[in-house]
Amino acid sequence: MSVSKLVFAPLSYTGWGSLKELLPEVEKYDPKKILVVTDPMLAQIGLTDRVTDPLETEGYSVTLYTDVVPEPPLETGEKLVSFTRNGQFDMVIGVGGGSALDLAKLAAVLAVHEGPAVDYLNLTGTKNVEKKGLPKILIPTTSGTGSEVTNISVLSLETTKDVVTHDYLLADVAIVDPELTVSVPAKVTAATGIDALTHAVEAYISVNASPTTDGLALQAIRLIGRSLRKAVEDGSDKQARIDMSNGSYLAGLAFFNAGVAGVHALAYPLGGQFHISHGESNAVLLPYVMGYIRKSCAKRMADILNALGGNSTYLSEEEASYKCVEELERLVKDVGIPSTLAGFDIPASALESLTQDGVKQKRILARSPLPLLEDDIRQIYQSAFVGAVAEPK
Ligand code: NAD
Repeated sequence: MSVSKLVFAPLSYTGWGSLKELLPEVEKYDPKKILVVTDPMLAQIGLTDRVTDPLETEGYSVTLYTDVVPEPPLETGEKLVSFTRNGQFDMVIGVGGGSALDLAKLAAVLAVHEGPAVDYLNLTGTKNVEKKGLPKILIPTTSGTGSEVTNISVLSLETTKDVVTHDYLLADVAIVDPELTVSVPAKVTAATGIDALTHAVEAYISVNASPTTDGLALQAIRLIGRSLRKAVEDGSDKQARIDMSNGSYLAGLAFFNAGVAGVHALAYPLGGQFHISHGESNAVLLPYVMGYIRKSCAKRMADILNALGGNSTYLSEEEASYKCVEELERLVKDVGIPSTLAGFDIPASALESLTQDGVKQKRILARSPLPLLEDDIRQIYQSAFVGAVAEPK
């Protein structure tokens, strides 16, 4: 029997209308100066007013910071950290997709540290996070990353990504209100939804999976499996948005504790070298990585097939794992995401540089039930170029 360490965000509110819990939660901290971190699009469509208006009406001093870009580069993080230190804030609220939430966590923690954010990067940094930082409330507006319940802040470097990670980056409060996701465009709904699905699938097949994370992951797969297509087709479908919001939250808890594996490891180089969004990078690789490793975790792939609404009753585990890959392929296609690397205009000549960057993701690859070495990684990328799932030689 192995021992599982499970860490969960201290306090969460989920469900339609849960944003109303923001004011009572803020009151508990009695902040003098609140920083709200978001991106310009959310300010432009008035979504952030739903956060700032009730606070300002109650007399709180609120500063809205909108200088967040998708897949934020390190420099964007550095700028926000300086702004937060200079502003003498005593609370940070992140409102947005993973990009805004990741930066809000980073700013809240590094506000009470010295030196640039680059010093705190996981792979190349020289300093450790030592203090908890400012209280932080995270409010996701996409159903995807699960950032509201993880201790990670992802930053884009020139050709790769790195993270600042420590349990002090966990939210004090997460408010996961599906009503805030109704305005997400179909393309972003699709990419973020497959991102959430990938978190759940990879947590379920991870070598670090536990009975607790299995429960979270399977329920996430059920909710996303039944509602992602509907949410993409009709963004105003309330039940579909509720399912996706709960699914993404559960998937976040599952992968934060069990980890992600091969899909994420090979997706990072796509984001780093070709600036493809995190969700789309995962989506295009999901069938190819799962197709390659399926026989190493066939029973679990059968469970995933059933959670996606399929039926493995009359199939061998091997057959069910094959069907599961087909189902994943169909889902990615149905929500309109290109199904090959060529579909993202990635030249075939990139095979080698992708492979070499993929090999470097050792920490993530270590969670794959099938060890993925350089040749395996090359074969998987190659299969994603030609659009035909490969199997280990
Ligand atoms: P995002 O935050 O980059 O947002 C994508 C786009 O959607 C943006 O243009 C944004 O303005 C728009 N948008 C967001 N909410 C909207 C709404 N309600 N209505 C209309 N438009 C809306 O996308 P994301 O996929 O949520 O986050 C991606 C980032 O999260 C990446 O940097 C990725 O590396 C990171 N990430 C972090 C974790 C973690 O655990 N911290 C996990 C996975 C990914």
